[in-house]
Amino acid sequence: MTIWYNHVRARIDLNILEHNFRLIQAKAPCPIPVVKSDAYGHGIGPVSSLLARCGARGLAVGTVGEGVALRLTPFEGKIVSLLGPLLPEEYPLLWEYEIMPFVGRREQIRLLEEEGRRQSRVLDIALALDTGMGRIGFGPGDMQQVRSLLEGARYVRVHMVCSHLATADDPESRDFVLQQGETFTRMCDDLAAGGLSFKRCLANSAAIQAYPELAFDCQRPGITLYGSSPFAGTRWESRAQGFRPAMEVVTRVVAVHDLVKGAPISYGRTFYAPHDMRVAIVAAGYADNYSRGLSNHAEVVVHGQRAPLVGRVCMQMSAVDITRIPSVVPGDKVYLLGGEGAHPVTPEELAGWWGTIPYEVFCLLGQNEREYCS
Ligand SMILES: *Cc1c(COP(=O)(O)O)cnc(C)c1O
Repeated sequence: MTIWYNHVRARIDLNILEHNFRLIQAKAPCPIPVVKSDAYGHGIGPVSSLLARCGARGLAVGTVGEGVALRLTPFEGKIVSLLGPLLPEEYPLLWEYEIMPFVGRREQIRLLEEEGRRQSRVLDIALALDTGMGRIGFGPGDMQQVRSLLEGARYVRVHMVCSHLATADDPESRDFVLQQGETFTRMCDDLAAGGLSFKRCLANSAAIQAYPELAFDCQRPGITLYGSSPFAGTRWESRAQGFRPAMEVVTRVVAVHDLVKGAPISYGRTFYAPHDMRVAIVAAGYADNYSRGLSNHAEVVVHGQRAPLVGRVCMQMSAVDITRIPSVVPGDKVYLLGGEGAHPVTPEELAGWWGTIPYEVFCLLGQNEREYCS
């Protein structure tokens, strides 16, 4: 549900999304962009129509429910569900809405066969393999059993075999990535030797940029599409260049006033003015998913300049130091993410102050009301 009760707006620039997707396409011959969690907070409707226009033939969502929501948009391509069916009522939806699920448990194959018999129609699935992420999928020790299960199956057809990399964004974990790649190849070869034919899909954003040898048949880019480099701040920074954040988050100044030297501000008096100051109260707080953990250590952009947060972030308001930007008045725009001028707040920077990663920044701030430009 969109946060409707404050002035915070997430602005999505579809031209930038397109620019990022073109960069991905240069390295990924068959991308299946990941649009789970409402396209990482960018809005699954507008993002999926843009990607379809740019040539994406398939998209990946999380739950089956998200797949249904995507099928109800004009998107006509393949829809992959990365979580796969969980509740009994999700099984028939796969046929009804033509969703290709990740399948990584024997019980799922059994239930799919049962449902397939009812539908009397074959369903394409994406077999999920666990090659080291330890999350979902069949492990290397399960292959014998999976092969015989699939040989006996009449209503499921393996269209794709997938696995997910745990450390592709970490240059220090190259060995583990290559090990996962080898395990994946071995498991796929094993299935192929049993007579199955399918597409192989392993790479996420980081692997697309840094491991061309793991491109296989199709790829699942996420974070680079939205404009954050998985290698930001590492020695591989240069391996994913040119991506630009498609999201900016803007709100408004509610009030402006002076704070005399020694006066406290906001709940708990966690900040005392070290000198005479001018502060702006801005309409953003933890109820807008602007975390209370940002208290006293984030910055915003006002009038093209940086202004640091002072005191605690409240439910719908925060205070910033505008001593050096005295022309600010109520109603002015304040950027929590992005911003005009030479020093926009980057997703990586905001994530750093927040103690998280750009993925979470996008997912959470993207729950505010969105505006699109293109
Ligand atoms: C989220 C997700 C991706 C995309 O990862 P990025 O790091 O955003 O590129 C790919 N595959 C799976 C299974 C995922 O869950």
